[in-house]
Amino acid sequence: MPELAEVEFFRRQWNPGLRKKIRLIHIHRGKRVFRGVSPSTLIRQIQGKTMISSEAHGKQMLFRFGRDGWLGIHLGMTGKLLARSRSFSPGSHDHLVLRTGQCSLVYQDPRLFGRIRFQTSREPPEWWNRIPPAILSPGFNLPQMASFCQRRGRTPLKALLLRQDSFPGIGNWMADEILWQARLHPKRKAGKLGCGEIQRLHFCIKKISRVAMQTIGRDGSDPPASWLFLYRWRSGGRCPRCKKTLARGSVGGRTSCWCPQCQPALPRRKHSA
Ligand SMILES: [Zn+2]
Repeated sequence: MPELAEVEFFRRQWNPGLRKKIRLIHIHRGKRVFRGVSPSTLIRQIQGKTMISSEAHGKQMLFRFGRDGWLGIHLGMTGKLLARSRSFSPGSHDHLVLRTGQCSLVYQDPRLFGRIRFQTSREPPEWWNRIPPAILSPGFNLPQMASFCQRRGRTPLKALLLRQDSFPGIGNWMADEILWQARLHPKRKAGKLGCGEIQRLHFCIKKISRVAMQTIGRDGSDPPASWLFLYRWRSGGRCPRCKKTLARGSVGGRTSCWCPQCQPALPRRKHSA
């Protein structure tokens, strides 16, 4: 499932359409990705308009057409944005295609868990404004994160990090990476962290998000080779730090990977503040 940096990567795929007029639109009517949206309205409101801007926030994207057309896209499990040639012929999974004079902007989603929204208004949609502060913005800060950990004190860290109402954009692989780099076991309870551990967690969330945006988000390249990312699903995968065999299991209903050596189930004295 696309997370923070993958969503940014896909947002950029539609950059060839920026400042270009949308001449023609193809839609697979009746597909559930368009639930709540009238395809006719979408076509009428976007066709002939120019794509002015695009933005990603957490796992959501927002594209602006003309003054007041807002197209929201959530990629779900298998959604992708692609740019193809002007003469591109849509396949069965290409549910929305916007054609400019130069290219075709494609939304592809084989499993249809994604969502497309559209509205016309002077201001960005209400749902967009409700997304909590971006991880890389000053609004996502240590005191706010610490109080969130306290409020959700009984939640295992892995499940906590997957909450989009506080950690927008963090998904399964990022949560595993953050906890591994912060040396925190995924089943540790959020309310039981020491001050030093909270600081470490906050530092790792910011750092991993920033580096992921600079690699995956920018050009789809891999994050650093020292990260867990490249080892977590390798058969016989070993921890890139201590070389112990990695553990795998379900935490908070999601398949997780951690290092039993680097991420002890109980805090080590030297790591508590
Ligand atoms: Zn290790």
